[in-house]
Amino acid sequence: MTQLKNLSETPVHTTPPPLVRVSGTHLEMGQQIGESRRKNVQNSIENARKLIKEAYRELELSWDGALIQARKYLPFAQERYPQYVDEMQGIAEGANISFDELVVLNVLEAVTMDALHLTRCTSMAVNDEYTADGHVLVAHNEDWIPDDENDVFVIHAKPNDEPPYLAMTYGGLISNIGFNAYGIAQVIDSVYPNDSRIGIPRLVVSRAVLAVKTLGGAINRTLIPHRAAGYNHLIAHESGEIYNVEVSARRFSIIYNKDGYLVHTNNYLSENMQEIENDPEELISSRIRYFRALRLLNQSKSHTIKSLQTIQRDHVNYPNSICKHDFGEGNLLDREKTINAMVIDLTAREMHIAWGNPCKNSYHTYHLDD
Ligand SMILES: [Zn+2]
Repeated sequence: MTQLKNLSETPVHTTPPPLVRVSGTHLEMGQQIGESRRKNVQNSIENARKLIKEAYRELELSWDGALIQARKYLPFAQERYPQYVDEMQGIAEGANISFDELVVLNVLEAVTMDALHLTRCTSMAVNDEYTADGHVLVAHNEDWIPDDENDVFVIHAKPNDEPPYLAMTYGGLISNIGFNAYGIAQVIDSVYPNDSRIGIPRLVVSRAVLAVKTLGGAINRTLIPHRAAGYNHLIAHESGEIYNVEVSARRFSIIYNKDGYLVHTNNYLSENMQEIENDPEELISSRIRYFRALRLLNQSKSHTIKSLQTIQRDHVNYPNSICKHDFGEGNLLDREKTINAMVIDLTAREMHIAWGNPCKNSYHTYHLDD
């Protein structure tokens, strides 16, 4: 094997990601998150400010401008999902930062109009017919700016009025990647439609998926009217039903796991979505990760947590591989890396998560209590 450049500089975490247990009203849960992860939330605001500043030449957007832009999305979130605006309010209060700044963080992709050159995340799922022990497994590599890696944590939540859930997040972002007590998991991948508009922010749309009790409810929520844009939502149910729901502001496409497994990265797979994809020629590394993961999944009909973790450490097309690396060079806007990798065992209600690149960091297990 050829030596991989700078692999030895990859950050190593000697502890598991922090676990935050919260319960109560949405405002109270937000406050508990903000208080216990105050430093992480504050760091993420600082990182977002730095990013906007570095992007000024490209976006001509100041931090004050970002505050104004972010405020436009708020009434749409408030109208449809006041409980998640409460969560943001609580996080801001608990972390001692302004609510407006926390909103910027949660609509950052929209206010930067996706000009950040990030092609983030690889998601996979296999159903009971494709695993050695009949469990349903969902895997996700979270690729994002390196500065936010230190602010990763896991949330174990018991809302008064919604199902308990376990989720991964970082800094001041509301929960959206994880699974709930009704056996529904969601992982998301950024996509690049050209029909985005002012509306319900993507992270709020995704947050609402963690609160559903049925598969149909989950898909419906990804398609909520007045959404600002869209992600790919890879949604799995403990029964082994798995879907990719590719979403934009005005269109969607539903892809079903007829072979027992599914993959998604950051390019649209459906023809009707490809028609509205911005700059598809910039998404080549996303396509390579997609086909690589698909081929590796197809090689076995008896996958395990370990075999999915092996795929998450894959270095083909390094450093823009499934396990994505960053060398600390160049424009901050173009820099990204895998900041955590998780395998959700939906049947066992467990999340196995590696903090940082999974090739250098071990996995830790978190369980959703009844
Ligand atoms: Zn790696």
